[in-house]
Amino acid sequence: MQYRIDKKSGKELSVLGMGCMRFPAVLGVTGKKKAQALVETAIADGINYFDTAWLYAGNEETLGEALENLGARNRINIATKLPILLVKKPEDFDRYFNETLKRLRTTFVDYYLLHMLTDVSTWERLQSLGIREWAAAKQKSGAIRQFGFSFHGNRDSFLALLAVYEWDFCQIQFNYSDENFQAGLTGLNAAAERGIPVVIMEPLLGGRLADSLPKEARGILSGAKMPEGVANTPAAWALRWVLNHRGVTVVLSGMTTIPQIRENASVAGVSTVHSLTKEELDVYGKVRAVFSAQNKIACTGCGYCIPCPRGINIPGVFSAYNSSYLMGRLAGWQQYMTSAVFTSKKHGGPSLCVACGRCERHCPQNLSIIQQLRLVRRRMEPFYFRLLIAGVRRFLGHTGGAKPKGTVS
Ligand code: SF4
Ligand code: SF4
Repeated sequence: MQYRIDKKSGKELSVLGMGCMRFPAVLGVTGKKKAQALVETAIADGINYFDTAWLYAGNEETLGEALENLGARNRINIATKLPILLVKKPEDFDRYFNETLKRLRTTFVDYYLLHMLTDVSTWERLQSLGIREWAAAKQKSGAIRQFGFSFHGNRDSFLALLAVYEWDFCQIQFNYSDENFQAGLTGLNAAAERGIPVVIMEPLLGGRLADSLPKEARGILSGAKMPEGVANTPAAWALRWVLNHRGVTVVLSGMTTIPQIRENASVAGVSTVHSLTKEELDVYGKVRAVFSAQNKIACTGCGYCIPCPRGINIPGVFSAYNSSYLMGRLAGWQQYMTSAVFTSKKHGGPSLCVACGRCERHCPQNLSIIQQLRLVRRRMEPFYFRLLIAGVRRFLGHTGGAKPKGTVS
């Protein structure tokens, strides 16, 4: 494992961080045991940065329990996040923070972020509630060591946010599919120039640059050479690209299996700044072109948009829609039917959308979900397919719900 210096705190952070969001905590005792095995492996492989959030259900508790069982709290850094969308009054800062400490079984947080701070007006709202004074007091007491924000807005908002506060660090999305997306390369460099450590999320775009990469793109990568000791996989290529940037301090990966940790740790052990050759950068260019042509909706499957009050499986239908381009219409339809639309007793297809806009307010990718659902329905539910769906619904006894006024057509 390689380490990069957090210039604000002087700490050495592992270049690979563990994104805990996809911990198998929902699986009860078995899930917690698996999560603990992941934490143990990550620490053994040199990872010392673990990222979680108040909003990730069951996540802080699982990490806290695993660290306590392993006696590892003081060997690693915990990064977690304040759910600013839920903060309505000054007392909420303490309320959420104290709950976080309890869940994590700790007395302090190494890296505390404002979760999804995407524009200056939101920062001003938090300021009016006393966030500056609150954060200063917590840092003075040692309960928060480093104070920053995670970001999903546009580049100009990011640059404006950098200037409104003396941030200790920030977290942005960055991967080779589009270096200008959101804060982008400009934002990364601007933060680095200010000496602000940058933590990268979504280096694999929610897995779309790993296992879901189109066959043609995988072929391009497998035909190119990888450094000795590193497996030639799409995930390794994606991580190497991020680590090639000087402004990057830590890259998070939501690893859910021990082999994934081992593989990513081996990449993190050899990938240095500006080590990619011109030939390798050309490979990324070719893969990017293939990927962009086939990845129609930039959904990462994070699930922030659900539950939808109408029961629509938004990430599921978007994934099936993308699959219909990546793997062909038939495969996409199969996925649409089996894992998106008919996943429960209720029909969860896009036709149920009443355009309430709730999902769009929570989407970190700023997707026009309502509009995209219309696109999905147009492609995935031609008239003969609607007849088939109606037949399957009748056969399974699904209700589908009454179609209220305003339903997307
Ligand atoms: S806009 Fe449509 S998809 Fe989004 S939450 Fe409302 S009903 Fe669900
Ligand atoms: S639509 Fe947006 S919020 Fe929902 S899963 Fe996709 S990226 Fe996440």
